[in-house]
Amino acid sequence: MSLTHLLLVIATLLVMEFAVALFHRHVMHGFGWAWHASHHEPRKASAWERNDLYAVVFTAAAIALFALGDPNGPVWWIAFGITLYGLLYGLLHDVLIHRRLPLAWKPRNRYLQRLIAAHHMHHAVKTRENGVSFGFLYAPPVEQLRAELRRRNGQA
Ligand SMILES: [Zn+2]
Ligand SMILES: [Zn+2]
Repeated sequence: MSLTHLLLVIATLLVMEFAVALFHRHVMHGFGWAWHASHHEPRKASAWERNDLYAVVFTAAAIALFALGDPNGPVWWIAFGITLYGLLYGLLHDVLIHRRLPLAWKPRNRYLQRLIAAHHMHHAVKTRENGVSFGFLYAPPVEQLRAELRRRNGQA
C-alpha cells in the first residue's frame, strides 16, 4: 500500500459517510422505504430484516469494483475503502447498537457513546418522515439532534 493508496482509502471513507447520509435520507427514507421500513419496526435482534438487502447490494457493488480494478490502480483501493466502511458500519451499527450478535460490548469511549445516542435518536422516529441523524460514523452533538427532533416533530 502506497501513500496514494492510503489517501485514497481515507478519502473514500469520508465520501462514503456523506454518500451514506444522503442515501439514507433521500433513498432509504424515500422511494426505498419498502426495504428500510423493516429497520424502523420492532424485531428480534437475531432475525434478518428486509433492510439487510441494502447490505447485499452494497457488497455486490464493492465486489464488482474489486473485479474491475487491480491493486496497482485506484479503483481497487476505492473498493477497499468501501469495504472498510461497510465493515465498520456492520460492527458499530449492527453489532454494537442493534446487538445482532451476542457480545457484551459496552464502550466507554465518548465518540462511540455519541454514535450510539445519535443513532437511537434516528430510531426515535418510526415513520419515513421527520427523522434526524442519517449519517453514521460522524454524529453531531446529541443536544443538537435533540433540538432538531423537537423542531421537526413539534414536541418536547
Ligand atoms: Zn432510517
Ligand atoms: Zn439502526
